Amino acid sequence: MKPKEIKKLAEGLEVTWSDGRSEFFKFARLRTSCACAVCRELKVPLNDSMPFFPRAITLVQMELVGNYAVALTWGDGHRSIFAFDRLIAPEISEAQIEERT
Ligand SMILES: [Zn+2]
Repeated sequence: MKPKEIKKLAEGLEVTWSDGRSEFFKFARLRTSCACAVCRELKVPLNDSMPFFPRAITLVQMELVGNYAVALTWGDGHRSIFAFDRLIAPEISEAQIEERT
């Protein structure tokens, strides 16, 4: 599924999918579910307090990567690439993030 529109809001992204459904993704959730090599390594174990993630997560830049992904540049300078397929099912749940903050 492809997004029809991605809107940057104060605390997250609102994605409207091609089927008309729209979903909200908090920046904190996206940032902590980054699957790049660096983050994957840092994230183990998952139940750690994850001190390397800034408390206040801001999105500096958002750009499309081809027609399959979106690249997000965060306030801490890190860049995460999310394939649209992965956006639908981030690995980390909201509950897990609440625990950490
Ligand atoms: Zn990362």
